[in-house]
Amino acid sequence: MKNPIVIAIDGTSASGKSTNAKLVAAALGFVYVDTGAMYRTLAWYCLKRNIDFHDAKAVASACRRWKTKLECVDNRVRLVVDAYHPEKEIRTADVSVAVSMVATVPKVRDWMKQTQRDCIQFGNLVMEGRDIGTNVFPETDYKYYLDAHLEERTKRRAAEGVNENLAARDQRDSQRAAAPLMIALGAKVINNSNLTPEQTSAMLLDDIRKRMVEVGAGR
Ligand code: C5P
Repeated sequence: MKNPIVIAIDGTSASGKSTNAKLVAAALGFVYVDTGAMYRTLAWYCLKRNIDFHDAKAVASACRRWKTKLECVDNRVRLVVDAYHPEKEIRTADVSVAVSMVATVPKVRDWMKQTQRDCIQFGNLVMEGRDIGTNVFPETDYKYYLDAHLEERTKRRAAEGVNENLAARDQRDSQRAAAPLMIALGAKVINNSNLTPEQTSAMLLDDIRKRMVEVGAGR
Protein backbone atom coordinates (compact mmCIF):
# COMPACT_ATOMS: atom_id res chain seq x y z
CA MET A 1 0.00 0.00 0.00
CA LYS A 2 1.52 3.32 -1.10
CA ASN A 3 0.08 5.97 1.18
CA PRO A 4 -1.99 4.47 3.95
CA ILE A 5 -4.65 6.76 5.41
CA VAL A 6 -4.53 7.59 9.13
CA ILE A 7 -7.65 8.81 10.89
CA ALA A 8 -6.65 10.46 14.17
CA ILE A 9 -9.25 10.53 16.95
CA ASP A 10 -8.15 12.35 20.08
CA GLY A 11 -10.10 13.60 23.07
CA THR A 12 -10.77 13.53 26.78
CA SER A 13 -11.20 10.36 28.85
CA ALA A 14 -14.55 8.60 28.31
CA SER A 15 -15.47 10.89 25.43
CA GLY A 16 -16.36 7.88 23.28
CA LYS A 17 -13.07 7.60 21.40
CA SER A 18 -12.84 3.80 21.57
CA THR A 19 -16.46 3.10 20.71
CA ASN A 20 -16.47 5.50 17.78
CA ALA A 21 -13.01 4.65 16.51
CA LYS A 22 -14.06 0.97 16.38
CA LEU A 23 -17.31 1.82 14.56
CA VAL A 24 -15.46 3.99 12.03
CA ALA A 25 -12.73 1.39 11.50
CA ALA A 26 -15.32 -1.34 10.92
CA ALA A 27 -17.32 0.82 8.48
CA LEU A 28 -14.22 1.66 6.43
CA GLY A 29 -12.44 -1.69 6.76
CA PHE A 30 -9.48 0.04 8.42
CA VAL A 31 -7.26 -1.26 11.22
CA TYR A 32 -8.12 0.01 14.73
CA VAL A 33 -5.32 1.17 17.04
CA ASP A 34 -5.90 2.00 20.72
CA THR A 35 -2.80 3.95 21.77
CA GLY A 36 -4.09 4.32 25.36
CA ALA A 37 -3.83 0.54 25.61
CA MET A 38 -0.12 0.82 24.78
CA TYR A 39 0.49 3.33 27.61
CA ARG A 40 -1.63 1.16 29.90
CA THR A 41 0.49 -1.87 28.98
CA LEU A 42 3.63 -0.05 30.11
CA ALA A 43 1.93 1.06 33.36
CA TRP A 44 0.83 -2.54 34.00
CA TYR A 45 4.35 -3.79 33.25
CA CYS A 46 5.84 -1.32 35.78
CA LEU A 47 3.33 -2.32 38.46
CA LYS A 48 3.99 -6.00 37.84
CA ARG A 49 7.75 -5.55 38.10
CA ASN A 50 7.56 -3.26 41.14
CA ILE A 51 9.00 -0.35 39.18
CA ASP A 52 8.01 2.93 40.84
CA PHE A 53 5.80 4.65 38.26
CA HIS A 54 6.61 8.06 39.80
CA ASP A 55 10.30 7.53 38.98
CA ALA A 56 10.68 8.86 35.42
CA LYS A 57 14.19 7.40 35.01
CA ALA A 58 13.12 3.92 36.10
CA VAL A 59 10.07 4.03 33.81
CA ALA A 60 12.14 5.23 30.84
CA SER A 61 14.65 2.47 31.49
CA ALA A 62 11.90 -0.18 31.62
CA CYS A 63 10.51 1.15 28.34
CA ARG A 64 13.94 0.94 26.72
CA ARG A 65 14.42 -2.68 27.78
CA TRP A 66 11.02 -4.38 27.62
CA LYS A 67 10.51 -7.02 24.93
CA THR A 68 7.50 -6.11 22.85
CA LYS A 69 5.97 -6.90 19.50
CA LEU A 70 3.15 -5.33 17.49
CA GLU A 71 0.54 -7.74 16.19
CA CYS A 72 -2.57 -7.18 14.10
CA VAL A 73 -5.38 -9.61 14.92
CA ASP A 74 -8.90 -9.23 13.46
CA ASN A 75 -8.05 -5.74 12.18
CA ARG A 76 -6.94 -4.58 15.64
CA VAL A 77 -3.38 -3.79 16.67
CA ARG A 78 -2.13 -5.12 20.00
CA LEU A 79 1.12 -4.64 21.85
CA VAL A 80 2.44 -7.97 23.09
CA VAL A 81 4.97 -8.04 25.98
CA ASP A 82 7.14 -11.09 26.54
CA ALA A 83 4.80 -12.87 24.11
CA TYR A 84 1.77 -12.02 26.31
CA HIS A 85 -1.18 -9.72 25.57
CA PRO A 86 -2.50 -8.30 28.91
CA GLU A 87 -5.93 -7.43 27.54
CA LYS A 88 -7.93 -7.47 30.80
CA GLU A 89 -5.11 -6.59 33.21
CA ILE A 90 -4.60 -3.12 31.71
CA ARG A 91 -8.15 -2.02 32.60
CA THR A 92 -7.81 -2.11 36.40
CA ALA A 93 -8.14 0.97 38.64
CA ASP A 94 -4.44 0.68 39.64
CA VAL A 95 -3.36 0.87 36.02
CA SER A 96 -5.69 3.84 35.37
CA VAL A 97 -3.94 5.76 38.16
CA ALA A 98 -0.40 4.83 37.08
CA VAL A 99 -0.89 5.35 33.36
CA SER A 100 -1.07 9.13 33.20
CA MET A 101 2.15 9.34 35.26
CA VAL A 102 3.95 6.94 32.94
CA ALA A 103 2.63 8.99 29.99
CA THR A 104 4.41 12.15 31.18
CA VAL A 105 7.89 10.68 30.61
CA PRO A 106 9.39 12.16 27.40
CA LYS A 107 11.46 9.03 26.60
CA VAL A 108 8.31 6.94 26.91
CA ARG A 109 6.46 9.27 24.57
CA ASP A 110 9.29 9.03 22.00
CA TRP A 111 9.12 5.24 22.14
CA MET A 112 5.32 5.24 21.85
CA LYS A 113 5.35 7.66 18.93
CA GLN A 114 7.79 5.47 16.99
CA THR A 115 5.86 2.31 17.81
CA GLN A 116 2.54 3.93 16.89
CA ARG A 117 3.94 5.20 13.59
CA ASP A 118 5.16 1.64 12.90
CA CYS A 119 1.50 0.53 12.89
CA ILE A 120 1.29 1.87 9.34
CA GLN A 121 2.78 -1.51 8.31
CA PHE A 122 -0.74 -2.94 8.86
CA GLY A 123 -2.45 -0.56 6.36
CA ASN A 124 -5.05 2.20 6.70
CA LEU A 125 -5.58 3.09 10.35
CA VAL A 126 -8.10 4.56 12.74
CA MET A 127 -5.91 5.53 15.69
CA GLU A 128 -7.30 6.91 18.94
CA GLY A 129 -5.45 8.63 21.76
CA ARG A 130 -4.50 12.03 23.14
CA ASP A 131 -1.76 13.26 20.79
CA ILE A 132 -2.34 11.47 17.49
CA GLY A 133 -3.29 14.57 15.47
CA THR A 134 -0.80 16.85 17.25
CA ASN A 135 2.23 14.61 17.61
CA VAL A 136 2.09 11.05 16.26
CA PHE A 137 0.62 11.70 12.78
CA PRO A 138 0.52 15.52 12.54
CA GLU A 139 0.64 15.22 8.74
CA THR A 140 -2.73 13.47 8.42
CA ASP A 141 -5.68 15.26 6.80
CA TYR A 142 -8.13 13.42 9.09
CA LYS A 143 -8.10 14.86 12.60
CA TYR A 144 -10.95 14.65 15.09
CA TYR A 145 -11.35 15.69 18.71
CA LEU A 146 -14.13 14.18 20.80
CA ASP A 147 -15.41 15.62 24.03
CA ALA A 148 -18.48 15.45 26.30
CA HIS A 149 -19.49 17.13 29.55
CA LEU A 150 -17.68 15.78 32.62
CA GLU A 151 -20.96 14.67 34.18
CA GLU A 152 -21.90 12.66 31.11
CA ARG A 153 -18.44 11.09 30.84
CA THR A 154 -18.48 10.12 34.53
CA LYS A 155 -21.89 8.52 33.99
CA ARG A 156 -20.57 6.51 31.04
CA ARG A 157 -17.65 5.16 33.05
CA ALA A 158 -19.92 4.33 36.00
CA ALA A 159 -22.18 2.37 33.62
CA GLU A 160 -19.09 0.29 32.79
CA GLY A 161 -18.61 -0.32 36.53
CA VAL A 162 -15.64 2.06 36.81
CA ASN A 163 -15.59 4.93 39.30
CA GLU A 164 -12.71 7.15 38.37
CA ASN A 165 -11.70 10.76 38.86
CA LEU A 166 -11.76 11.65 35.17
CA ALA A 167 -11.23 15.36 35.82
CA ALA A 168 -7.91 14.62 37.56
CA ARG A 169 -6.72 12.39 34.70
CA ASP A 170 -7.78 14.96 32.07
CA GLN A 171 -5.92 17.63 33.99
CA ARG A 172 -2.73 15.55 34.13
CA ASP A 173 -3.07 14.73 30.41
CA SER A 174 -3.66 18.37 29.41
CA GLN A 175 -1.01 19.95 31.60
CA ARG A 176 1.99 17.69 31.07
CA ALA A 177 4.91 19.24 29.19
CA ALA A 178 5.39 16.43 26.63
CA ALA A 179 2.68 16.17 23.97
CA PRO A 180 -0.24 17.31 26.13
CA LEU A 181 -3.85 16.64 25.23
CA MET A 182 -5.05 19.50 23.03
CA ILE A 183 -7.08 20.13 19.91
CA ALA A 184 -4.93 19.68 16.81
CA LEU A 185 -4.86 22.45 14.23
CA GLY A 186 -7.52 21.67 11.64
CA ALA A 187 -9.26 19.09 13.82
CA LYS A 188 -13.04 18.79 13.73
CA VAL A 189 -14.37 18.98 17.29
CA ILE A 190 -17.43 16.93 18.18
CA ASN A 191 -19.08 17.28 21.58
CA ASN A 192 -21.19 14.13 21.83
CA SER A 193 -22.80 14.73 25.27
CA ASN A 194 -26.24 14.39 23.70
CA LEU A 195 -25.38 12.04 20.86
CA THR A 196 -25.48 8.25 20.59
CA PRO A 197 -22.39 6.41 19.29
CA GLU A 198 -24.31 5.76 16.06
CA GLN A 199 -24.91 9.51 15.61
CA THR A 200 -21.32 10.41 16.51
CA SER A 201 -19.77 7.80 14.21
CA ALA A 202 -22.15 8.86 11.40
CA MET A 203 -20.87 12.45 11.78
CA LEU A 204 -17.28 11.21 11.74
CA LEU A 205 -17.84 9.03 8.67
CA ASP A 206 -19.63 11.82 6.83
CA ASP A 207 -16.72 14.19 7.42
CA ILE A 208 -14.09 11.55 6.63
CA ARG A 209 -15.75 10.77 3.29
CA LYS A 210 -15.93 14.49 2.44
CA ARG A 211 -12.26 14.92 3.27
CA MET A 212 -11.38 11.84 1.21
CA VAL A 213 -12.97 13.48 -1.84
CA GLU A 214 -11.20 16.78 -1.10
CA VAL A 215 -7.75 15.20 -0.80
CA GLY A 216 -8.39 12.77 -3.64
CA ALA A 217 -8.15 9.62 -1.57
CA GLY A 218 -10.73 8.10 -3.94
CA ARG A 219 -12.94 6.32 -1.40
O1 C5P B 1 -7.48 6.14 26.35
P1 C5P B 1 -7.10 5.62 27.71
O2 C5P B 1 -7.97 6.11 28.81
O3 C5P B 1 -6.94 4.14 27.74
O4 C5P B 1 -5.64 6.23 27.96
C1 C5P B 1 -4.96 6.01 29.15
C2 C5P B 1 -3.96 7.11 29.40
O5 C5P B 1 -2.86 6.96 28.52
C3 C5P B 1 -4.42 8.54 29.21
O6 C5P B 1 -5.08 9.07 30.35
C4 C5P B 1 -3.11 9.26 28.95
O7 C5P B 1 -2.44 9.55 30.16
C5 C5P B 1 -2.29 8.22 28.19
N1 C5P B 1 -2.31 8.42 26.74
C6 C5P B 1 -1.51 9.40 26.22
N2 C5P B 1 -1.41 9.54 24.87
C7 C5P B 1 -2.13 8.77 24.05
C8 C5P B 1 -3.00 7.80 24.57
C9 C5P B 1 -3.08 7.66 25.94
O8 C5P B 1 -0.84 10.11 26.96
N3 C5P B 1 -2.00 8.93 22.72
